[in-house]
Amino acid sequence: MNIKTKISLGLFFLFAVILIVGGISIYYLREISDDAKNIIKANYESIEYMQGMTAALDSLERDSSSMMRLKKNLNAQEGNVTELGEMEETVRLANLVNELRKGYQDSVVLEIRQSIHKINDLNLKAIIHKNAIADETAHQATIYLIIIVTICFLVSFSFILNFPGYIANPIAQLTASIKAIANRNYEERLQFNRSDEFEELAQAFNSMAEKMDEYEHSNLANLLFEKKRIETIINRMNDPVIGLDDKRHIIFANTEAIELLNKKEEELVGHYAPDVAVTNDLLRRLIQDIAIHTLGSNGSILTSPSTLEKPDKPIKIYAHGKESYFTREIIPISITPTGEKIPVSIGTVILLKNITPFKELDLAKTNFIATISHELKTPIASLQMGAKLLQDQRVGSLNDEQSRIVQTVNDETQRLMKITGELLDMAQVETGNIKLNLTSVPANDLIEQAIEAVKFQAEQRHVQLHVEVPDKPSSVQADKDKTIWVLINFLTNAVRHSPENGEVYIHCTAEKERVKFSVKDSGMGIEPKHLEKIFDRFYRVPGSDPKKGTGLGLSICKEFIEAQRGTVSVNSEMGKGSEFSFSLVQAHT
Ligand code: ADP
Repeated sequence: MNIKTKISLGLFFLFAVILIVGGISIYYLREISDDAKNIIKANYESIEYMQGMTAALDSLERDSSSMMRLKKNLNAQEGNVTELGEMEETVRLANLVNELRKGYQDSVVLEIRQSIHKINDLNLKAIIHKNAIADETAHQATIYLIIIVTICFLVSFSFILNFPGYIANPIAQLTASIKAIANRNYEERLQFNRSDEFEELAQAFNSMAEKMDEYEHSNLANLLFEKKRIETIINRMNDPVIGLDDKRHIIFANTEAIELLNKKEEELVGHYAPDVAVTNDLLRRLIQDIAIHTLGSNGSILTSPSTLEKPDKPIKIYAHGKESYFTREIIPISITPTGEKIPVSIGTVILLKNITPFKELDLAKTNFIATISHELKTPIASLQMGAKLLQDQRVGSLNDEQSRIVQTVNDETQRLMKITGELLDMAQVETGNIKLNLTSVPANDLIEQAIEAVKFQAEQRHVQLHVEVPDKPSSVQADKDKTIWVLINFLTNAVRHSPENGEVYIHCTAEKERVKFSVKDSGMGIEPKHLEKIFDRFYRVPGSDPKKGTGLGLSICKEFIEAQRGTVSVNSEMGKGSEFSFSLVQAHT
């Protein structure tokens, strides 16, 4: 039976109960009321008539109208005979009254009184009897009503007791099951075992859960397949790849990475990377700075700008049976959950690129350059010597045209000498053959010697050199020759790029543990797009005079300064000039 029918039946039952109780109550009320009316009409009025006749009899000798009243009450009694034996007694009373009308006799009056008393008695007994019947009826009505009310109470009580649970229990069960489904427990099923709407609901729910279960499993299979596919792709990659979650646990490492780290997969995957790094130097270097690549609490990517702008230096690792070079790339991974705006960090991928072949080629190239420059130096020096002899006219006088040609040969050999010198310096730096002679050098000495070297050039271009040094000069921990070389390079560039009659400022300031040297010119400045490449090897600002310079000067400056644990930087504004600076570790004297 369905719930709708059950509720209808329950209400119908209540309605029927109200009708039955009402009907029975009305029926018995009418019965009792009829009994009361009957008593009043049939018996109580007869008693009243008899009282009237007794009063008339009492005043019969004094009052002439008493006979009339006697007769009137008798007539009324004759019309209200209701009880058994009352008729005979009323007829006898009428005969006696007729006899009394003929003449007053005490004996007749006595008999009339006796007869009145008898009728009274009959009616009183009838009243008592009828009252007993009415009582009985009321009692019966009470019992019936009590029985019906008790039945109704029991039925309603059991209804009240059971019905809320009958409705609420399956709803509670359904709610719990929906919650289970929401928690991805698709194996949840409903079991009601009743034949109503809830059973249908349970069937519908179960079929939904079954479909979701199937979907989940098919999805899971797809996900597993895709996971496998990605794992295979990562494993097939020739470059080592390591994945970390946002708490720096290793979530995957491909075959190349495992081989490189010289660990077993199970020693890596699932472990906290800094813990593994305790026993693995390479991993320690690889996870360095990872924390600063993760997301901040407000969702912003906290990536150290210096790390991003400047790629990591190649890491030397013994791999594939030889010394290999790898560059490290750190890729922070973040996702924006659906419905949210702020990205959440889910981890980091460390990608290593094997640059050994390039490094080898580079080394071969550098060695080649070094050899060639070295080999060229001697013939160039001979050329220079030859040109010098010709210029000095030691081997005969030259005419103007010949002097001009010899001058050009001299200039060009000087330029060749400078280029080969720079190439050799660069090769020295690159091959790591740079030999530093670090001593404590007063900053002023460096500046003075550099100025001395460029003074002539500056005068020729009418460029004024201004030196601004602190009253208390500092000393730096530096290789004197190389640092002067750098300062000369900055100054030569500054003079060369300043207009005629321009000004060049040389500053020297002590900052914390460092001393900063800067050379500021009033030239045309450098466009921002060139600034970031200006320290690269062979980079020249487009449009630079091809006859002057090689694009190597600034890159060698950088290498020289960085080899001394210093830093170089440049600031430039178009139309206003450029400022090239470097800072070195202060020497404690
Ligand atoms: P080069 O030997 O060609 O001058 P550098 O490495 O010294 O090579 O300089 C690289 C480039 O930077 C050059 O092309 C030059 O135009 C530019 N440059 C260097 N210094 C300055 C400066 N003070 N003002 C403007 N441009 C400069």
